[in-house]
Amino acid sequence: MSVRCGIGYDLHRLEAGRKLIIGGLEVPFDKGPAGHSDGDVVAHALCDALLGAAGLGDIGTHFPDTDPKWKDANSLQFLEHAARLLGEKKFAIEHVDAVVILERPKLGPHFPKMREALAKALSVTADRIHLKAKTNEGVDAVGRGEAIAAYVIATLTTT
Ligand code: MG
Repeated sequence: MSVRCGIGYDLHRLEAGRKLIIGGLEVPFDKGPAGHSDGDVVAHALCDALLGAAGLGDIGTHFPDTDPKWKDANSLQFLEHAARLLGEKKFAIEHVDAVVILERPKLGPHFPKMREALAKALSVTADRIHLKAKTNEGVDAVGRGEAIAAYVIATLTTT
């Protein structure tokens, strides 16, 4: 058995009038990520982590933001597609660990549902998905509540 790790990072500006979608879940708030798709930073960073671990490029290669097909797209679709590509290459998703960085709102209470949504999109069990949240201590754009960011590491195995 061999083990591979991939890292993903994403950041979106937060704007009034956009839904705050994180980890496939809509979180009640007065701002949300600007973006071509739904701007789900966890799904995007996770997609890059999975594709990176499998040596399959990145999210921009597979879902270009110039393609009208992906306008306001539910980013869980990106994960479903990435999981299919991994399956074709005989990779299994061993574990995913994520850090979401934003000032407000508190995400902890939403993590169980986010883990379920992400796990379903990847066809794995929720115990393989781990989520954590941090503030940016008021520093920089994220700290001023102008942006949301996420880092994700994915571990794959192949036999
Ligand atoms: Mg993105």
